[in-house]
Amino acid sequence: MPSEELTAQIGQLKQLLQTSRHALAFTGAGISTLSGIRDFRGRNGVYLQPWRGHSVEEILSLRCFMAQPELFYAWAKEFIYRLEEFHPSVVHTALAELERQGILKGIYTQNIDMLHQRAGSRRVKEVHGSASMHHCLRCGRESSYAEIAPRVMADEVPHCVCGGLVKPDIVFYGENLNEELLEEAFAEMQRTDLLIVAGSSLTVHPAADLPLEAVRYGAKLVIVNDQPTALDRYAALRFRDLAEVFSQL
Ligand SMILES: [Zn+2]
Repeated sequence: MPSEELTAQIGQLKQLLQTSRHALAFTGAGISTLSGIRDFRGRNGVYLQPWRGHSVEEILSLRCFMAQPELFYAWAKEFIYRLEEFHPSVVHTALAELERQGILKGIYTQNIDMLHQRAGSRRVKEVHGSASMHHCLRCGRESSYAEIAPRVMADEVPHCVCGGLVKPDIVFYGENLNEELLEEAFAEMQRTDLLIVAGSSLTVHPAADLPLEAVRYGAKLVIVNDQPTALDRYAALRFRDLAEVFSQL
């Protein structure tokens, strides 16, 4: 895109944000790639690369977790529990700033990396959960990220005082999304008048159905993603370069 055209379109995006009543963001793995967390579904992402002979889809499946929790925790030691080594990207930072200004009303994210909260965003809905909280599969006792992370980093498979296996509140493959959260999400998508999709190719359902719901109820859709998405034809504005757009907001 020629730079004047891009500048004009970014101007339009700013205008849309300023005049919106209830702007929301919907984010995916692409925005965390900028932070050094590899995009699960990107071309060079770990998603496509077996890790110790297992696909990430397998490692993140409930069946595999129950059978071999040590496999998940060894993988997660590398990708989830060393959060201090990853820093929010310009996208996380810009979205946090828009919320601080009262323009952005909330973020729905497919990411499990907690980087929005680290960037200072307050109203973050994690549709695939995260490791910010854990539960014992036997007694239901809760443990925080801060309690569990050092144990995982010490190569421990965390167990509860009752002896039960501890599982992060991530929605694994084979598990359903949190119904209450999903219901709330669909209701809010019907109310939003501006939805910015950032770093998601909108292929993982049912989470990816949320932007379509917003479109159905008349919201303006803005998509920022380096790959084509399923909803490109509905976008009022369509950008490719995340860093370029969000560094100018
Ligand atoms: Zn327990």
